[in-house]
Amino acid sequence: MTTTYALSIVAPCYNEAEGLGAFVARMTAAASAVVGENYELIMVDDGSRDRTWAVMSELARTHATIVAVRLSRNHGHQLAVTAGLSLVRGDRIMVIDADLQDPPELVGDMIARLDEGYDVVFGRRRRRAGESPFKRATASLFYRTLATLSEHDIPVDTGDFRLMSRRIVDRLNAMPERDRFIRGMVAWLGGRQTELLYDRDARHAGVTHYTLRRMVRLAADGLIGFSTAPLRLATLMAVIGVFAGVGLLAYILAGLITGSTVPGWASLALIVVFFSTAQLVCLSIFGEYLGRTYMQAKGRPLYMIDEITCATGPSEAKS
Ligand code: UDP
Ligand code: MG
Repeated sequence: MTTTYALSIVAPCYNEAEGLGAFVARMTAAASAVVGENYELIMVDDGSRDRTWAVMSELARTHATIVAVRLSRNHGHQLAVTAGLSLVRGDRIMVIDADLQDPPELVGDMIARLDEGYDVVFGRRRRRAGESPFKRATASLFYRTLATLSEHDIPVDTGDFRLMSRRIVDRLNAMPERDRFIRGMVAWLGGRQTELLYDRDARHAGVTHYTLRRMVRLAADGLIGFSTAPLRLATLMAVIGVFAGVGLLAYILAGLITGSTVPGWASLALIVVFFSTAQLVCLSIFGEYLGRTYMQAKGRPLYMIDEITCATGPSEAKS
């Protein structure tokens, strides 16, 4: 696909009317300092209830570099970013929050790193200003649990603030899964990825839209989308159950032989041990099949070829 711009910027916006002007001023200044007018800023209004759309569409009318997109209702942060990514026309694509928590001025550093030959430069939070100790602690716990349970290397303390190559975004857009956890999907895609440490600022205006419920939902999308470990719990329990069952069986038989039990206890105990172990084993079998069906249902590509070299000369893989 031929691209039109050196840079596309995607900014999801939900009830950001108050801070949007300041965001656009800083973002456009930072972008034009690096690529001149050769960029587009795609702002996605995720069904805001305030004046976000009015402010945004006015900015799009007065700035040639701004594209305003309005979703039909609130779809959530990850889908707002997904919608923006499906429209980009640039060579390099940056995703940034519109609340100025991610500094737009990092765009130059990110482009310099990407152009060293990386596919992804993700911003990793060194410090987070203006966020409650509860948010910081739960976020930290979440990233670490995910890194441990996930079968892929999902970087810790990293949100969606990042710069990506066109190739990675094309591949990301081709992943059809519905529960989208973008930072995990990008990690899954592989290629050459690197981090850029930064300090996360406090919100410029407004309040966070990530309530506890949304944070739990995002955490579930991350954990369930990138790991079948929760399903495998049944398998672990079945293994423990079988060992415990054998031990109990020996105990019951010993009691029966020495006659140290009341009549009826041994048969009852045997029934309980047998059926509970059988249930655990069946559950674990279901879990294994379900895990595979679930991964298959995601319809992800099986692998990604980065490059192919042969005698007739090297070629960049197309996806
Ligand atoms: N956002 C969105 N849709 C939503 C919630 C948030 O597009 O349903 C946007 C929001 O406007 C911001 C970004 O996603 O630009 C991150 O959201 P927020 O700042 O509320 O999250 P936090 O930074 O507190 O994790
Ligand atoms: Mg924020």
